[in-house]
Formats: sequence, structure tokens, C-alpha cells
Amino acid sequence: MPPMHISFDNSYARLPERFYARVEPTPVAAPRLVRVNAALARTLGIDPDELAGPEGVAVLAGNHVPRGAAPMALAYAGHQFGHLVPQLGDGRACLLGEVVGRDGLHRDIQLKGSGPTPFSRRGDGRAALGPVLREYLVSEAMAALGVPTTRTLAAVTTGEAVWRETRLPGAVLTRVAASHIRVGTFQYFAARGDIEGVRLLADHAIARHYPAATGSYRAFLDAVVAAQAELVARWLLIGFIHGVMNTDNCSIAGETIDYGPCAFMDAYDPATVFSSIDQAGRYAYGNQGRIALWNLARLAETLLPLLDGGEAAAKEALAAFPRHFQKAYFDGLRRKIGLSVERDGDDSLVQDLLKLMMEHGADFTQTFRRLGDAVAGPAGDAAVRSLFGDGGGFEAWAERWRSRLTREGDGPAAIRAIMRAMNPAFIPRNHLVEAALAAAVEREDFGPFEELHAVLSRPFEDDPARDRYSLPAREEERVLQTFCGT
Ligand code: AMP
Ligand code: MG
Repeated sequence: MPPMHISFDNSYARLPERFYARVEPTPVAAPRLVRVNAALARTLGIDPDELAGPEGVAVLAGNHVPRGAAPMALAYAGHQFGHLVPQLGDGRACLLGEVVGRDGLHRDIQLKGSGPTPFSRRGDGRAALGPVLREYLVSEAMAALGVPTTRTLAAVTTGEAVWRETRLPGAVLTRVAASHIRVGTFQYFAARGDIEGVRLLADHAIARHYPAATGSYRAFLDAVVAAQAELVARWLLIGFIHGVMNTDNCSIAGETIDYGPCAFMDAYDPATVFSSIDQAGRYAYGNQGRIALWNLARLAETLLPLLDGGEAAAKEALAAFPRHFQKAYFDGLRRKIGLSVERDGDDSLVQDLLKLMMEHGADFTQTFRRLGDAVAGPAGDAAVRSLFGDGGGFEAWAERWRSRLTREGDGPAAIRAIMRAMNPAFIPRNHLVEAALAAAVEREDFGPFEELHAVLSRPFEDDPARDRYSLPAREEERVLQTFCGT
């Protein structure tokens, strides 16, 4: 059998040696495939059957380095909960290389949980099965929801134990990303006074992600600001809480990256926090826009020596964030209630709905989904009204809303269709994710993981047989905290 073919072109490996440490993954005892993402493999020009075969699984476990790979751990720094750590780096990940897909794009293929690297500090370089499956489920759900994100190509178990608070099965996740360049990567060079490093990194990021900004670091900063603003607005529109928006988890390409203690909000409340390590609520649902801007300010600082116009130019670039963010957020919110054109009063209409949701603890996802059935008239109200206690406040709001809908060009059926394409029926609800992980970790039963994965791959299609996946947790099922599990 000819060896498995992956077409690598490793542009990051052509950057100077101080950008990374060349290190191979550490082989594991007994790799077993959990799942291969066949559609993604095909996009990357990789045969999914080969990837699921013995040689492919050896690659996914880090037991075999494929031809053309240039394995390395990337150097980066980062502000963690507001405090600068001048050296973090890939402590448990190995970039195999960049694959050139069928669409001609370069994408990083990275093994996460592949053993120690020079950046491991006191960590073991490994990942536990639970967090690996969480990243698989949530990153693929985000992709299906249309949110820019790193993807998951595969997960394997290692046949080895990892020790966290207890003994857990080990696993390796294969992550695919536009790149792994983070705000923290820029900070790594800036923290060392290595302006040439910052420049080379910026040139690389521009060539790879923002070719239209070639020749202008200001245009590059503008583009990253816009991408982050749009990304975080998208998160808010589906109730996503990243949980650890440290600058090392902030991708320059504008993808959602690092699914640690991430979670989806059930009842609408901007103060919602799930992460056990976020005690001050720094990364609460409603703070995410502000934090993205804070992170971008850290990026701008690293670029100061390169920017024509220095600090004033940086400030101007950052000042565009609220505009981009508010526009993306309110455009999205309006579409969530079926409004395609903007009219006076629309933003307060939608804000009043959010206020009512907050007062009544209405489920964020269900409210918008069910609202689609109420477009034509009060006859379709019952399902959504039931989310608002006695429903009184909702009825008055719905009357205003329907009178506003009559000024849309489209009729009820078209409006409902727009709403259904904006408002998912299925999100990775925390209790479902936890249950799928527990079954796999405690009983080696991957059935619930597979089933949930299938549901989440078609988030906008109703599926009466899988109704329970669309519902919020019952009281006894509620998940109050999520953990990094690293
Ligand atoms: P994260 O919380 O995954 O964003 O990781 C933050 C930093 O801790 C990164 O530098 C990681 O590489 C490092 N890290 C997390 N878990 C481990 C581990 N098990 N072994 C070594 N380094 C780790
Ligand atoms: Mg990270």
C-alpha cells in the first residue's frame, strides 16, 4: 500500500527558528480511532478511509509523522485573566504542518495532546478524552452554525491514562485552523523587544489571512479589528460563551479557537458565566465584546513600532471596533426577529424582547426559534408565549412586533424562513455535552457522542424524533459550571 498522501506546504516553518521549537509528537501505547471528520478530510484533499486506516490512525495519534510534515511547537505569550505571561507556547500541541486543500487554502493541522514540548512548563503535554470530545462537538457545532472556527479533523484515544484530579483516559484531537497565530504570538516578540520578529509575523499573517492589507500594517490592524468584532457578535447571537478569552486564545485569522470551559447560555442573562476559573466574571457572556477590544488593544501595542502615525493610528483603528461590533450584533438581532431592513425603533424593539427574556428567564435559543412560528399571527404564539411566565408582557411586545413586520417587504412565510435560517433549533446544550462526555469517559459508550454530533450537524432543521435535544435542561440536569480540564 502506498503511504498516505497529505500535500503539505509549511510556510510557518520557513520563518526564523525563534518562532517555534522543532519537536515530534510522543508516540502513545494503543491508539484507537474515535471519529474521523470525513467531509473535512475531503476538503483537505485527504482520503477519509485512509485517515481511518492503520497508517492514518498512527498519524492522528502522533505515532507516525507523515511525509512532508514539519512538526513543531509554536512560541507565544499571552495575557491570562489580564496578566501578561511572556512565554506560554504550545505545551501540549504539535503543528504537523500546513495542508493545501482542494480549495487552494493553507490550513494548519495540529495534534492537541501529543506529548511534552519545550513549552510544557509543568504540564504533561497530554489531553483527557472529555475535553477532546467537547472540542470536537462544540467546534463542529459552531461550524454548522456558520461561525468562523477552528475545526476538528479527528479524535483518537491513546490507550494511556492521564492524571488530572483523577485518572482519566487520554486522547489526541486533530485540529484544523486557518492558522494558529494568536494575539499572544505578537506579544511573544514584543515582550522580548524583538521588533523584527513582530514585523516578520505581521508580514506572514498579512500574506496568509489579509492579502488586501499588503504594504500597510494599519490596514492589517483594521482587518483584525473587524474580524474579531464580527466574530464576537456572532457568538452573542447564538448565546456562546467562550470562557477563556485570554490573548493567547484570540486568533488573528478571526476564528473561534480553544474550546476549554466554553458553554452555551440557556436563559438569557448577560452576566452568565460557567467557567469554574472565571470567578470575577471577566469573560461573562455580555462582557465578550469589551474583552475582544481589550485584547485588540494588546495587539495594537505590539504593532506600534510598525505603524505610521503611531499611537494615534492605533487608537483610530481600535475606535472602529464598537461600530463594527454594534452593527454586526444589531443586524443579526434584527434578522433574528425577522427584520431585513432597518427602521427607526427596531433596535429598541429587539432590546425590549431581550429585557423580557431576562425578566422571565426565557431560554435564549428557544425564544427565537419559536418566535418564527408566531410571525403569521397570535394563533402561533402559544409555544413562545409559554416561555414568558403568564405571557402578559410578551403579548404586548408581540403586538408591536407584528405591526412592525407588516412594514417588511416579505410576507409571513418568507419572514419565517429568514428567521429559521438565523435561529437554530439545536445548540450544544451543556447538559447534553456533559452527558455525551460522561458516557464515553465512564462507560466507553460513544453512542451519545455520535448522536449529539449528528444532531448538531444540522442545527437549523427541525427533527421531531430528536426534540429533547432542542430543549433546555430540566432542573436536575442543569450544568452550573464547566471546567478547562487541561
Ligand atoms: P489553554 O488553557 O489550553 O489555552 O492553555 C494555556 C497554556 O497552557 C498553553 O501554553 C498550553 O500549551 C498550556 N497547557 C495546557 N495544558 C497543558 C498540558 N497538559 N501540558 C502542557 N501544557 C499545557
Ligand atoms: Mg490556549
